[in-house]
Amino acid sequence: MDKVFDVIIIGGGPGGITAGIYAKRAGLNVAIIERNVPGGAISTTADVSNYTGFKSIDGVELAGKMFDHVSSLNIPFIWDEVKKTKLIGDEKIVECYQETYKAKAIIIAIGASVRKLNLKKERELLGKGVSYCATCDGNLYKGKDVALVGGGNTALEDCLYLSNIARKVYLIHRRDEFRGQDILVKELETKNNVEFVLNSTVEEIIGDNRINSIKVLNKINNQTSNINIDALFICIGRGPDTGMIDEDVKLNEKGYIITDENMKTNIDGVYAIGDIRCSPLKQILCACSDGAIAATKAFEYIKTSARKLKSN
Ligand code: NAP
Repeated sequence: MDKVFDVIIIGGGPGGITAGIYAKRAGLNVAIIERNVPGGAISTTADVSNYTGFKSIDGVELAGKMFDHVSSLNIPFIWDEVKKTKLIGDEKIVECYQETYKAKAIIIAIGASVRKLNLKKERELLGKGVSYCATCDGNLYKGKDVALVGGGNTALEDCLYLSNIARKVYLIHRRDEFRGQDILVKELETKNNVEFVLNSTVEEIIGDNRINSIKVLNKINNQTSNINIDALFICIGRGPDTGMIDEDVKLNEKGYIITDENMKTNIDGVYAIGDIRCSPLKQILCACSDGAIAATKAFEYIKTSARKLKSN
């Protein structure tokens, strides 16, 4: 495979895929680097109901459709993980674990990483009852009692998903108001096997080789109680993880990459799109729109740079 491209897109979620399609259609030699599965966060979403044109679609199915689209244009996917980047200058270097690649422009589309509760046994019992993805692991807990932490759309949708599999689902949220959509809360209220545990936080995960129970603190009366469960799903959102990106790329105070309206970062030829970018709304549609803009602007940047080189 080629190791030199016009544009390298880091991340194969909806934004990265859209950027790839626009870059290829503009005639650029483009590749997408992805460390996991195409589709990013949507590949772990049970139901997407706000992507225009689809009243309701399974996240894996939508990710598959996007991957088919990008594959039909013969855009190469490089299955590797980025270790570090060197982005200042005309030649951008992307060092992966297996190979090093070069490009004239880079589009950073790495999404955001799952947030952790950072409890003592959280890491040790990961895969042994602790999970960050209900749609990936939910089926392992058919007929069992499980708990889910979070109050956003992901938590609410995942809770609905689990209510069709588990015997009982405890939905633990730190406030008495959900951040997620009311329509989902209303649907959950109709489920007999879902119990809301509000104004509460998980203080401890109990179990040796497997999770047995959790200690939950009610923040109103300051009382703790134990809930026996077979699995704990932690669905408390995502945060930026730009550890592998040059420290020259400017971030905001929360760690998201700062861009202008053209998706350009503070470095020429470097763009950031989707959930990793400092933006007012993090949705599939927004990531796709960002991707289209970034690819178009990367094309203009590459053409302008080539013209400058020629005239020198
Ligand atoms: P989110 O909207 O950021 O919600 C995170 C939830 O976790 C919040 O309820 C938050 O509580 C809680 N939380 C955060 N840190 C916590 C901690 N340390 N301990 C306990 N609770 C904690 O994340 P998300 O649900 O993953 O959604 C991310 C974005 O994707 C959102 O814009 C969402 O609308 C979108 N999304 C859309 C769909 C859809 O439309 N189909 C599906 C999934 C996600 P507080 O509320 O108290 O802050």
